[in-house]
Amino acid sequence: MANNLSQEIVSPLLDWYDTHATNLPWHGASPYGVWLSEIMLQQTQVETVISYYTHFMKKYPHISQLANASLDAILKQWEGLGYYSRARNLHKTARIIATEMDSHFPQTVHELMKLPGIGRYTAGAIASIAFNQVAPVLDGNVIRVFARLIDLDDDVTESRVKNKLWDMAEKLVPQKRSGDYNQALMQLGQKICTPRQPNCHQCPIQAVCKAFANDTQVTRPVKKKRQPIPHYDVAAGIIRDESGRLLIAQRPLEGLLGGLWEFPGGKQETGESLPQCLKRELREELAIEVEVGDLFVQVKHAFTHFKITLHAYNCRYQSAMSPYTEPQTLEVANWAWVTDDELTKYSFGKADREVIRALDERRKMLF
Ligand code: SF4
Repeated sequence: MANNLSQEIVSPLLDWYDTHATNLPWHGASPYGVWLSEIMLQQTQVETVISYYTHFMKKYPHISQLANASLDAILKQWEGLGYYSRARNLHKTARIIATEMDSHFPQTVHELMKLPGIGRYTAGAIASIAFNQVAPVLDGNVIRVFARLIDLDDDVTESRVKNKLWDMAEKLVPQKRSGDYNQALMQLGQKICTPRQPNCHQCPIQAVCKAFANDTQVTRPVKKKRQPIPHYDVAAGIIRDESGRLLIAQRPLEGLLGGLWEFPGGKQETGESLPQCLKRELREELAIEVEVGDLFVQVKHAFTHFKITLHAYNCRYQSAMSPYTEPQTLEVANWAWVTDDELTKYSFGKADREVIRALDERRKMLF
């Protein structure tokens, strides 16, 4: 069945790709460019990636330049793109390739998957697009196209079903032009076989699509209902010393927003007020005492698996906790006293950038 299906979909898809492919900045790029674009495209829309990719390539045209850059510089360049573990892995991989592989990427899926931040999908994309290896890809777009093509009524979030789709991808990928075929499938998912209203009348593989024949397109793929996303209240301190400088902290290098800077604070626990939460967090993370003042701004932000409301309070620095004479790196990677103007030198997550924006607006109003 797979062989027949392969014959039926490969040439229409390649013909469609030859005439309708969107010309993106990483098309025809070096393996380095293909890798960079694929890492950026994980969890992120093409339109958002274009400017980040262009700026990255301008600043780091060769992988050795990326390898020699500091993690702080890369995080600053990545600021706003989200999922910051990608930037940390990018840096690790660049260093491995530049120092251990003489700046040459491995070409096989197996070897590529040994590198930080490269899973089966990304390895397949790099191997097929950059090296024309016969390797399949399966991302959200391809899952949707395949589930409709075979009118699959199994839940595609189950790993058993995903494995079945990987088998299908493996059997369908052609021996020639596998990179173009993979890109055609992904672009079909982005532009024609879209989640809500697939444009089946412009689809090059409509003739073999079972969901189209059965009129079940909008019910495919089947996904189990998501659990409600939890919400947390987070208190943060805009802590100033006597000369008006701000105390900022760098998050631990691993984990959520790892290595980014923030206005220090943390998650409210049951039974405590937000000012109590803030005082507790600052003692635990930095060993400092502050006087919590008025609420300056509230920012709502959604992560993949939870949402937060960040409550940022104006605070006055009092002292380090005995026996210390200055803040400590108890649960932070680093800390710094900075002026308002110096904030732009550091990379912050989105919610903290909103706080900085509110600070800028208030300064403009005052001066
Ligand atoms: Fe998707 Fe419609 Fe094409 Fe089927 S015919 S693959 S549902 S766009």
